[in-house]
Amino acid sequence: MPSGRPLYLAGGSLYRKAFSRMSRIKRILVTGGAGFLGSHLCERLVAEGHDVLCLDNFFTSQKSNVEHLLGKPNFELIRHDVTVPIHLEVDEIYNLACPAAPGHYQYNPIKTMKTSVIGSINMLGMAKRCRAKILQASTSEVYGDPEVHPQVESYRGSVNPIGPRACYDEGKRAAETLFVDYHRMNNVNVRIVRIFNTYGPRMHPYDGRVVSNFIRQALAGEDITIFGDGEQTRSFCYRDDLIEGFVRMMAAPDDFIGPVNIGNPGEFTIRELAELVIELTGSKSKLVTRPLPADDPTRRRPDITLAKAKLGWEPKAPLREGLAETIKWFRSIDVADYRAPTPNY
Ligand code: NAD
Ligand code: UDP
Repeated sequence: MPSGRPLYLAGGSLYRKAFSRMSRIKRILVTGGAGFLGSHLCERLVAEGHDVLCLDNFFTSQKSNVEHLLGKPNFELIRHDVTVPIHLEVDEIYNLACPAAPGHYQYNPIKTMKTSVIGSINMLGMAKRCRAKILQASTSEVYGDPEVHPQVESYRGSVNPIGPRACYDEGKRAAETLFVDYHRMNNVNVRIVRIFNTYGPRMHPYDGRVVSNFIRQALAGEDITIFGDGEQTRSFCYRDDLIEGFVRMMAAPDDFIGPVNIGNPGEFTIRELAELVIELTGSKSKLVTRPLPADDPTRRRPDITLAKAKLGWEPKAPLREGLAETIKWFRSIDVADYRAPTPNY
């Protein structure tokens, strides 16, 4: 029984918790649930039999990502913006709402910051009221352009607070602060996952991210645009591995709140990635160089010792296999069906 609150005032949450414990079926909210990662997470949770609420404002996503789930009795789609409070009754929250690609989050940087900060406050408030567990989709961008390589969770990062990436990086850093403070102050059951570059089917073909750009360009026979000299590195995690990491972190013992790195430690230069995409697509595209965007991190690779030890998690999909699956999906869609972010955001 919660401190000093009569049972009838504790309301639905006590009954819901008791019911959940008995049935192991949970009511789970996924914010940003229609996006690339969110839609795969919803799919997995629906398949496990949970009651899934997918909340999204469709800034960077399409309904087609979750269309196949709409007829399921345990799936519900809510058009809503996380910067506005909402009253729902849930057992778990995965907070993914936030534009993730540089071109998307720089479209309206103030809104991006609001989404991370006000959105997190709203979701943490909901978690506090419902006594729900809440997981934050944080990012390797909290490490900025890192001086420590590979990046361990204890590294505090090197972020330019006034650069063009700051709205995203600092928003995610502030969100981590909020999560930990709600935990310390209000005993909210939180988890923080730092995601490294993840790719796979349902990436937005025009999101401007390197994997989607290179595959779309290769399949169209267009030039492949390498920013800078292409010697900067990234570590690419396939979406299935990432989703498994999410679910394991949500199920981890309550005393492990993270942050934990979830990513694939295989490290590739952007030029190597371009060459692999050309090989796997059989494209005749040429590699061309374009100016490197400001504050573009030079190296990135996760140290996943903590994820292995605490979650028994490590990625399984090699880049070559994950890319082949992604290319297959890109071949199956008409990129013209994917619109750019709309100005009404
Ligand atoms: P995505 O853009 O496909 O998904 C984000 C979703 O959030 C979209 O459906 C978008 O419409 C929605 N959204 C944005 N602002 C919103 C708001 N104010 N209210 C409600 N919905 C909103 O990107 P993704 O790659 O699926 O990323 C999902 C999450 O994972 C993001 O929080 C992102 O920061 C994080 N992440 C992703 C990666 C990656 O490589 N994919 C890396 C690090 C962190
Ligand atoms: N990049 C590139 N060509 C592109 C898109 C991106 O060379 O068409 C580079 C970009 O400059 C960065 C890397 O690829 O060094 C990864 O970019 P992305 O936007 O995918 O992710 P992030 O920089 O956020 O890790």
